[in-house]
Amino acid sequence: MSNTIERIKCLIIGSGPAGYTAAIYAARADLNPVMYTGMQMGGQLTTTTEVDNYPGYPKGTDGTAMMEDFKNQAERFGTDVRFGMITSVDFSDKVGGIHKVTVDTSKVIEAETIIISTGATAKYLGLESEQRLIGGGVSACATCDGFFYKGQDVVVIGAGDTAAEEATYLANICSKVTILVRKDFMRASKAMQHRVEKTKNIEVIFNTELDEVLGDTVVEGVRVINNKNNEKQELKVTGVFIAIGHKPNTEIFKGVLDMDDVGYLITKGKSTKTNLPGVFAAGDVQDKEYRQAVTAAGTGCMAALDSERYLGALI
Ligand code: NDP
Repeated sequence: MSNTIERIKCLIIGSGPAGYTAAIYAARADLNPVMYTGMQMGGQLTTTTEVDNYPGYPKGTDGTAMMEDFKNQAERFGTDVRFGMITSVDFSDKVGGIHKVTVDTSKVIEAETIIISTGATAKYLGLESEQRLIGGGVSACATCDGFFYKGQDVVVIGAGDTAAEEATYLANICSKVTILVRKDFMRASKAMQHRVEKTKNIEVIFNTELDEVLGDTVVEGVRVINNKNNEKQELKVTGVFIAIGHKPNTEIFKGVLDMDDVGYLITKGKSTKTNLPGVFAAGDVQDKEYRQAVTAAGTGCMAALDSERYLGALI
């Protein structure tokens, strides 16, 4: 390990809408933020196609282009954006304490405040055809991509609250939504299940799994398999929404920061404060419910304001 130690006021970990918004606010508050982007610069939005629901883009925009805009804006105010991964952390539990992080297992950074915006990763089934057609009809976000399937038939995979919510959202846009449930019941809350049952253009098929997504460059259908009798059938759909859960990117904070049983960081009340002083969390890493770019950006702003106030109170 190198012995280069750098001391900074504010370290931002992660480069999605939450991280960049935190950076814009922190830079404008003279916190001289340094951001480590993680391996997927720009975060989850760079894996979607068009973004039509972010305010300020009346004609819509491309997810990657939008994140480039975020980055440029953060850099305009002096954010030091660096490509790299934080590989371990040694956070202080004292007010005014210094938090240490290691970058790419070599460089050590000492920071007075930390803003964690490492996001969450949508889970996929792992089928070759599913992976190949991400962006070509396979999506893990109905609110991002549902609009493109207006008047068309789609399938949703999953049986939890996300699947139920995505299906009811899509039912308002699409002609027909088929939910594929691998067991003979849905795990979603009763209220969500009732909403599904009451929606006329949703059909739920139980004991059924996705076998293959059909199509070369765009989705033309799916082949599904009944896991009781192994019977296969093809459904003609143009969209496949995978809703089998998300995994928050919090491995390196295990045992350090309070998290729920799935791994989402727990923040205090309406703030972005974690259980450690000077460590804040914003975006999907602490939000399993809304998970939108605009809500992530909002909490990124809050984390920068919380950092600024925390540092201000130390003087
Ligand atoms: P969950 O972990 O609750 O559910 C995941 C679902 O995906 C399960 O039904 C599971 O099936 C299914 N699944 C997993 N792997 C596969 C597979 N390989 N093939 C087929 N199906 C699979 O995740 P959610 O994202 O739905 O919810 C996460 C949390 O967020 C929950 O606590 C939920 O209540 C909450 N939430 C709340 C909302 C709200 O209140 N508005 C909205 C969205 C989420 P199986 O049941 O067979 O294991």
